[in-house]
Amino acid sequence: MHILITNDDGVYSPGIAALAQVATRFGEVRVVAPDVEMSSASHSITASRPVTVKRTPLPGLEAYRVNGTPSDCVMLGTTLWEKTDLVLSGINIGTNLGNALWHSGTLAGAKQAALLGLRGIAFSAPATDREQPDFEALRPWAATVLQALLDNPQPCLVNVNFPSEPPRGTLWTRQSMRHYDGKVVPGEDPMGRKHYWFTVIPVEATEEGTDRWAIEQGYVSMTPLRLDLTDAEMLARVQKVESWKKLKFA
Ligand code: MN
Repeated sequence: MHILITNDDGVYSPGIAALAQVATRFGEVRVVAPDVEMSSASHSITASRPVTVKRTPLPGLEAYRVNGTPSDCVMLGTTLWEKTDLVLSGINIGTNLGNALWHSGTLAGAKQAALLGLRGIAFSAPATDREQPDFEALRPWAATVLQALLDNPQPCLVNVNFPSEPPRGTLWTRQSMRHYDGKVVPGEDPMGRKHYWFTVIPVEATEEGTDRWAIEQGYVSMTPLRLDLTDAEMLARVQKVESWKKLKFA
């Protein structure tokens, strides 16, 4: 099996090295990742300038850095390495739960794989401002999850989040969407000019069965995702509305 590894924290992140080392047990590994941190880049692609691929020494790994986004890396990686069977993204420094999936560059790497008809799996782990995930401890957990996922042909697109303590097990979860935790904080620069920080507020109440709830309970959260954003229920409903059918353009 040929496994392409990417992330959004950049090629030098300890998280990508940990994931790549785990992946080498399952197949031939190649790392193609952004040259700088691209967290919150979501699924953007670099369309306004060309991008470059440079060989990057990482111990024991074939690795390349790209001056682009996680999606760019997967597009380029799979184009230059046609044999790619599987794309892994992460291990992100910080969780990717709930509405964060809309902003996540880590997940975008896996989504880009799914768009190309490949299997994509995103991995994230809790972090705070002061503390990074313990990647030494995470490695065997990631290996266990990866083995279990590879033993089954489905799902094609999975978002995996680890808890902060040794996992009690794994749970299949849905994306927690009740609260949006995005927030704008105004501030002032040394010249007295106004500026704004995009940040997050902690989400308190979590719903049972969701990704956020699972990791709070000490489980590895695994959410199967799909690319089709269509609201099928709403589509059926609006298709029946007479006024839409009668709408005329003069
Ligand atoms: Mn990140």
